[in-house]
Amino acid sequence: MTSSDYDSSNIFAKILRGEIPSCKVYEDDHSIAFMDVMPQAPGHTLVLPKQPSRNLLDASPEALSHVIQTVQKVANAVKDAFDADGVYIAQFNEPSAGQTVFHLHFHVIPRHEGTALKPHSGKMEDGDVLAENARKIIEAMS
Ligand code: AMP
Repeated sequence: MTSSDYDSSNIFAKILRGEIPSCKVYEDDHSIAFMDVMPQAPGHTLVLPKQPSRNLLDASPEALSHVIQTVQKVANAVKDAFDADGVYIAQFNEPSAGQTVFHLHFHVIPRHEGTALKPHSGKMEDGDVLAENARKIIEAMS
């Protein structure tokens, strides 16, 4: 796969263009972070570079350099906001590896000892719950 395989009609491209809403927690010139609508744990956040790439395999070094700094920022905020024991970072490349949305993104998920993760792309979370979780993360970043 190459960057020519990037399809700008993917749902994250629509969020980046402001065509559909998201529960945003962070944005800068190069990256954005918002709540996953089907969280595997409360506080599950997605971090994306703004530069289009299908996944990690075709991303530019510049985009990767910026986005991993946002992943770190969001991971620390998520850990604080949810009083987590650890933070799980996941990133899938191509359908065989579990990728379902084809704009590079990193999953940032707070983990608590003894609490199992819910399934990937499982149940849609209530919008008010997502908004409250986003508020906690924004507060932890400020
Ligand atoms: P992946 O399988 O790594 O491509 O993950 C895509 C993720 O995007 C899944 O965890 C979905 O729950 C999540 N997702 C799908 N649509 C949306 C949306 N509109 N806003 C936020 N998250 C979404």
